[in-house]
Amino acid sequence: MALTGSCLCGGVKYALQGLPMMLENCHCSMCRKAHGGPYTTFAKVLKSDFAFTAGESLVDHYQSSADVKRSFCKTCGAKFTFDWAQAPKHLWLAIGTLDDDLDMQPAFHIFVASKAPWFEIHDTLPQYDAYPPNID
Ligand SMILES: [Zn+2]
Ligand SMILES: [Zn+2]
Repeated sequence: MALTGSCLCGGVKYALQGLPMMLENCHCSMCRKAHGGPYTTFAKVLKSDFAFTAGESLVDHYQSSADVKRSFCKTCGAKFTFDWAQAPKHLWLAIGTLDDDLDMQPAFHIFVASKAPWFEIHDTLPQYDAYPPNID
């Protein structure tokens, strides 16, 4: 079974085989800038399980750090993946773009040290100042 997702304009579609390994909320300032919200919920997935299925020519990449590339739709600006060179087998997928329901909850918050001051975390999930332990 594949989970499918798409961007705001609908031009780009993707499929994810199987379930994510975990979900995490990233509060870092770069995710906040890129996504325009207090945090971004990413699914950690195997790169080999993810594929664009339509509109790949509309997908562009922004190199947000020396070892991170973020993909997005050139037409509508929707964000898809966070590709970290230090974890070459994995991708972090911004699951706000999913069209299918996913019956999972985030496991923790990361980069809480750079959280927006106007947003408070109201759950009991673990919080890490930066990366979680044992990230890969
Ligand atoms: Zn789009
Ligand atoms: Zn982040």
